Amino acid sequence: MAFREIIGQSRAIELIKSYYREKRPHHSYLFLGPRGVGKTTCALNFAKLLNCENPLPDAEPCDTCRSCEAIDGGYHPDVQLVTLPNEKRELGIEEIRQVRQSAYTSAAWGSWKVYIVEKAEVLTREASDALLKILEEPPERCLFILLAPNIADVSPTIASRCHIINFLPAKKEEIASFLEKRHHIDRELAFTFASLAEGRPGFAITLASDEKMRTVREEIFSFLLELEIDMDYSLRAGQEFVKIANQLREGEERDKIQQCLLFSSSFFRDLLLLRLSGDESLLINYDKRNKLKEVVNKYSLDFLNAALNALQRTYRLLQPGSNVNHRLALEVMFMDILGGR
Ligand SMILES: [Zn+2]
Repeated sequence: MAFREIIGQSRAIELIKSYYREKRPHHSYLFLGPRGVGKTTCALNFAKLLNCENPLPDAEPCDTCRSCEAIDGGYHPDVQLVTLPNEKRELGIEEIRQVRQSAYTSAAWGSWKVYIVEKAEVLTREASDALLKILEEPPERCLFILLAPNIADVSPTIASRCHIINFLPAKKEEIASFLEKRHHIDRELAFTFASLAEGRPGFAITLASDEKMRTVREEIFSFLLELEIDMDYSLRAGQEFVKIANQLREGEERDKIQQCLLFSSSFFRDLLLLRLSGDESLLINYDKRNKLKEVVNKYSLDFLNAALNALQRTYRLLQPGSNVNHRLALEVMFMDILGGR
């Protein structure tokens, strides 16, 4: 995907291009913004631009040279995406040692070496110190791009070494028209997906293109529509929820549950909004407005507030790095929701 195809990040892209035009870019950058907002795509495009054999006039990589194709294909010998290994919760010293070894050898294709550290927020203390040492004495023609949601998630000494580029959530309209044009989705559903994505085009595209993700959203919705407000049902409700979540393709069970908690939060938020204002144009799940209106009077305002709080609390409990048993947390959540009529 080229810079010009990235949705809603024109300011960040202009900054990247201006660093490129300086001809002597800095060695380390920190891209900040929520997951799915376009940080990785922009970092890969920065790497493409620096290594492109025939860059286009407006500081766009050509997308067709050997280097651009290798970066798009994930096999460029000098461009490395440092990702969290499967089954691991933290980026450890081993990953950074590999970076260190490779960074101080000369580039295989004689161009810029670029290391993109996804999830810099989960670097262990040791890994963070090792990375800092590299950033303090950066090798020639070597560039580090660290990605994280917030500045507070990154060690202050690392952040102080980096040029920071902020990625703001993209506008709903921009995401929706992209989905309409590129994914041929009707306007109503495009707006629904754009609302659910909360400014993250990457997630909106997943919703538009991943059949499983859409099925799971549908099933969570049906599950919530038929929720029995009965304490005895809480254990079964938790099990049912996990079963639906596990149909998702990406991530560990905990991540899948978190995604389903977000779908569920949007359901209760919409009901609360319908109760309070009745303005259906503000709904996230606009495509489900009729179903929502059918059940809105089943619940009291207190119930809806309590349910939303319980969902948000459980979502936070399941953040990466926590040791909470996620199935147990779900069970407690459903006891809270179903016992609190
Ligand atoms: Zn190129």
